[in-house]
Amino acid sequence: MMELVLLIIGAAISYFILYLVVKAAVKDAILETKGTKYDQDEQEQDTIAKIKCPACGQNYEMDYPKCPFCGHQ
Ligand SMILES: [Zn+2]
Repeated sequence: MMELVLLIIGAAISYFILYLVVKAAVKDAILETKGTKYDQDEQEQDTIAKIKCPACGQNYEMDYPKCPFCGHQ
C-alpha cells in the first residue's frame, strides 16, 4: 500500500516538473518572439534617421537639405 502512495506521489511530481518545463519553454518562446520584434523596430528607427521640421512638424529624412513638405530649411 505504501508503494502505491509513493508511486502516485512520484507520478504527480514528475507531471508537475514536466508542466513547469513546458511552461518555461513556452514563456521563453513568447519572450524571444517579442524581443526579436522589438529589435527589428529599433533597427528600423535607427536606419531611417529623421528629423522633425520645426515649421510644420512633419518628420523627414536627414538627407533632404530642406523640409519636403513646407520647404523650411
Ligand atoms: Zn516643414
